[in-house]
Amino acid sequence: MNATIMKKEYMNPDRNPYIQMGTVQIQPGEYQTVTFLVGKLPIGQKVGIKIHIFHSPNPGPRILLLAGVHGDEINGVFALKNILENGMLHQLKRGSVIVVPLLNVYSFLNFSRDLPDGKDVNRSFPGNARGSLASRMASVVTKRILPEIDFGIDFHTGSSLRYNYPQIRYTKADSKSKELADIFNAPVQFPMATISNSLRKTARIMNKPIVVFEGGESMRLDEYSNKIAATGINNVLSHFEMIHTETKKSEHLDFGHTAWIRATSAGIFTSYRSSGEHVTKSEVIGSISDPFGEQISSVVASKDGFLIGHNQAAVVNHGDALYHLAFNK
Ligand SMILES: [Zn+2]
Repeated sequence: MNATIMKKEYMNPDRNPYIQMGTVQIQPGEYQTVTFLVGKLPIGQKVGIKIHIFHSPNPGPRILLLAGVHGDEINGVFALKNILENGMLHQLKRGSVIVVPLLNVYSFLNFSRDLPDGKDVNRSFPGNARGSLASRMASVVTKRILPEIDFGIDFHTGSSLRYNYPQIRYTKADSKSKELADIFNAPVQFPMATISNSLRKTARIMNKPIVVFEGGESMRLDEYSNKIAATGINNVLSHFEMIHTETKKSEHLDFGHTAWIRATSAGIFTSYRSSGEHVTKSEVIGSISDPFGEQISSVVASKDGFLIGHNQAAVVNHGDALYHLAFNK
């Protein structure tokens, strides 16, 4: 099997011309929204996941753009909302785009990463339509959406006061996901192992490459990350000739490995460096001091590398993740 994302691969004349979304068939040239109910709020309102399907008249790749798996990671939700708002997907020349701007409605309402019962949707795949809320949401993606797509991009941000520099994470063993990362062309990219019961792992088993875009932090909008997200989506759609835009190819950094630099002390954390910066081994990049001005310890870079994330917490404990470092051996 050719492991490259070939434009021709998606022109297969034997393929279903329509997209099946639950009981709804979306015919070539149609745009529809479909809502899958997953539960109710305690005050009675029904809660559903709204899916936008843009199906152009001409065959081409079927791409998923998904955000809000963690409902407090608003940046991705914002980026996909903008794509829906600006109307560009109504002009698709070929192929199809399925947009889910907000999967985890419950945690969006609760300003939280997880569901009210503490479950994480991205650890609940493949899911179960009669399981917990997280499992039901995962099931909508696995059963309804993944069978209809060729590949996808899942938009996230850093969590718990951690900022992520705009980056694409792909699956090393899946050359198509690396290629998709190259096409998206975020400033930084690197492979990351798939986690059990995550969307990326389930999709991998189904041979549907998913890359994860990370940019910014939870509960905040980050203009730079959103600009990169929009450019990346444009790069992918224009690569497959689904839209026409003048894309300027910018350079990106490719790393093979990542590691966390953790707090070796507890106290007030002062950061001297920020995500998006190169650091050198043994360089002092931050400090941790007690509240009484008596003790101070340095945070040093463990290797030469590039900071792809940093912790913005003012107070840290032993072992807290302070900087996420990308590097090549
Ligand atoms: Zn996330």
